[in-house]
Amino acid sequence: MDQDSKTRPGLQTRLSHLGRAGKRSAGFVNPPLSRGSTVLSPTVAARADAQARRGERALAYGLDGSTAHWALEDVICDVEGGYRTALVGSGLAAVTVPMLAFLKAGDHCLITDSVYGPTRRFANETLSRFGVETSYYDPCIDGAGLAALMRPNTTLVFTESPGSHTFEVQDIPALAAAAHAGGAKVLMDNTWGIHHFQPFRHGVDVSIQAATKYPAGHSDVLIGAVTVGNAEDWETLHATKRNLGEFAGPDEVWLTLRGLRTMGVRLARQEKSALEVAAWLAGRPEVAAVLHPALPGAPGHDLWKRDFTGACSLFGVVFDTRFSQEQSHRFCDALDLFGIGASWGGFESLVVPTTDSVTRVASTLSPDGPRVRLHIGLEDPADLIADLRQALAAMAG
Ligand SMILES: *Cc1c(COP(=O)(O)O)cnc(C)c1O
Repeated sequence: MDQDSKTRPGLQTRLSHLGRAGKRSAGFVNPPLSRGSTVLSPTVAARADAQARRGERALAYGLDGSTAHWALEDVICDVEGGYRTALVGSGLAAVTVPMLAFLKAGDHCLITDSVYGPTRRFANETLSRFGVETSYYDPCIDGAGLAALMRPNTTLVFTESPGSHTFEVQDIPALAAAAHAGGAKVLMDNTWGIHHFQPFRHGVDVSIQAATKYPAGHSDVLIGAVTVGNAEDWETLHATKRNLGEFAGPDEVWLTLRGLRTMGVRLARQEKSALEVAAWLAGRPEVAAVLHPALPGAPGHDLWKRDFTGACSLFGVVFDTRFSQEQSHRFCDALDLFGIGASWGGFESLVVPTTDSVTRVASTLSPDGPRVRLHIGLEDPADLIADLRQALAAMAG
């Protein structure tokens, strides 16, 4: 167990108490939901003072945030174990804002080949227009392998572990050591790991959360969070966020803070159900592989065990090669309790085919066979398994 568990209250205690005015505050339990653009100042001098202290949580304009924004920033920052958190409008913005903050024209950026698709698209279509060159690396590469790909102008190494479609677990400490030795910052999309992976203790400089997923938790919000480990990186990140006009709306912030209060219990239940479903699927003759890092024997299990304290409820399934892609689509269509849709982390189960949505330029996928991704929600696992059983029959029939 990590050292903090001796000195720090448990996750669900912190989620219940952080980001609040305090139990003796003589007010409502939760911060107010404040919508606004203009902030009025009593005098010109007071306005100048608020403007000078921007970034220190002084309100001069709506884009500076609100009590609820600062509460949510504090709770997410605590979960990530970082120095400070910035909220942005979506998980994708939580990827793009720090990339724009820490890259400049002439730089080279290394991105894991297992990266979330829109991150790849941003690098290929947008960063390239601003003179940043990107290359992709095999997610399972070791430190020496990454060191060999570093160039004098490599300033950013992007990681995502496990990959949210293919579930390779990366050796983050080894990759971070190699990146730092070459003078590069390490960004990590930590959406899957959430509180089960402590990025700053494993060498990550900037951690990204699509808080749309488990923190919001109810499939009704889009929001992102970027956390940095020190004051200098905060200045860099905050300046770019401000210059871009990036913002998370107050309703989304308020709902995400509300969602986070129960994230520990939701995740614990979903983790357990997902493992039960994954183990059941692993025993089925239709299934060639279950890509769930917490499942003993699954790809990446040893690294997961070394670096993570638990798992979320998102994993992949590879069907046997005797099934066609069309049959895997029939499987998805036959499911009753699993919605067909992107995103994850909500209370409800989802399925999505992934055979065609994965791009590879620096690595290959194995085993062969049509693929789907499952998100396990809060339903009773016996019902989910019964549903999967009849869908497997429909696929084979
Ligand atoms: C969903 C997701 C994102 C983007 O989040 P949005 O809020 O949907 O923009 C980023 N990274 C990963 C790994 C994701 O799964």
